[in-house]
Amino acid sequence: MRDLVTLECTECKNRNYCTTKNKKTHPDRMEMKKYCRFCKKHTIHKETK
Ligand SMILES: [Zn+2]
Repeated sequence: MRDLVTLECTECKNRNYCTTKNKKTHPDRMEMKKYCRFCKKHTIHKETK
């Protein structure tokens, strides 16, 4: 029961990462700190739909 989600940088709005998540364990939008190669630093990435 894994869903594919896209993670978008909150600063430059680029979609940098794809991941899977379990909607039962993460029913809300995920936020994670990841390296953005456009911002050239770690930024918060949020799930998009
Ligand atoms: Zn960015």
